[in-house]
Amino acid sequence: MAAKACSVLITGANRGLGLEMVKQMVESPWPVRQLLACCRDLDGLRAEGLRDLAKKHPNVITVIRLGEYSLCSIILFLHTLVGSLVGKAGLNLLVNNTGVLTYGTMQTTSTQKMQAAFNTNIMGPMDVTKEFLPYLQAAATASGKPGMSCSKPAVVSISSTVGSIATIKEMYSFFPIASAGLNMLTLCATEEFRKDEILFAVLHPGWVRTDMGGEGGAIDAPESVEGLLCMMDSLTEKQTGAFLDHEGKVMPW
Ligand code: NDP
Repeated sequence: MAAKACSVLITGANRGLGLEMVKQMVESPWPVRQLLACCRDLDGLRAEGLRDLAKKHPNVITVIRLGEYSLCSIILFLHTLVGSLVGKAGLNLLVNNTGVLTYGTMQTTSTQKMQAAFNTNIMGPMDVTKEFLPYLQAAATASGKPGMSCSKPAVVSISSTVGSIATIKEMYSFFPIASAGLNMLTLCATEEFRKDEILFAVLHPGWVRTDMGGEGGAIDAPESVEGLLCMMDSLTEKQTGAFLDHEGKVMPW
């Protein structure tokens, strides 16, 4: 990757995998010049770790309030902040990391609960990607180099292998529906923006010991994120539209 060339935006950056990504990106040789770390409650207890990191790296991390996904809040901060931060170089890497786990079946899940899961896991990534498109396109122009990578424009969605239609087994939760939706959204966007040289990929982080993954998870967040960053670093035009896990294994759609 090019030295200190990247501007990166991460959603759901205040805890779990998002916070660990911010940490590893600023504290490792990952070449991040500008890191826009988004969360919905900047002042809350759950953003304490992110606020501390931002204090330690004030020239790199900017913490941005990205509320319950609504276009208005996105546009508001977009116009006031992001353009001036990323400048003409544009945005190189957008990581759609925010997600919510919904338990329940058709008989126990209300329309409202399902709608909320779709809003967070599908509409959120779609709205954020759409609104940042001009900055991603600016990064493609600024790069002036052929090919695709995460130091040119790229959109990486952190999704789950439970959204895999090909491998569905006995399942008592509706969570896979939103994951499958995000996966398909990514595939459609891959084709729509191939001509703009914007790389799209879906990454599965493994079963990770976070608030979402629970204590029984197979790995901890640092190990998962180390793998995810390694994957992001290795992506090229050959992997646009790929669905990989944190170890680089190809996941079935
Ligand atoms: P966590 O539950 O630890 O963190 C979720 C993050 O998403 C938090 O920053 C949370 O913010 C944010 N968030 C949730 N709902 C909303 C919302 N409506 N609006 C704005 N922000 C919201 O999850 P993980 O870190 O474990 O997961 C990160 C990603 O990885 C998710 O997309 C998840 O689906 C995926 N994943 C995780 C696995 C695991 O084993 N952990 C397995 C497979 C996939 P707040 O603090 O404000 O709630």
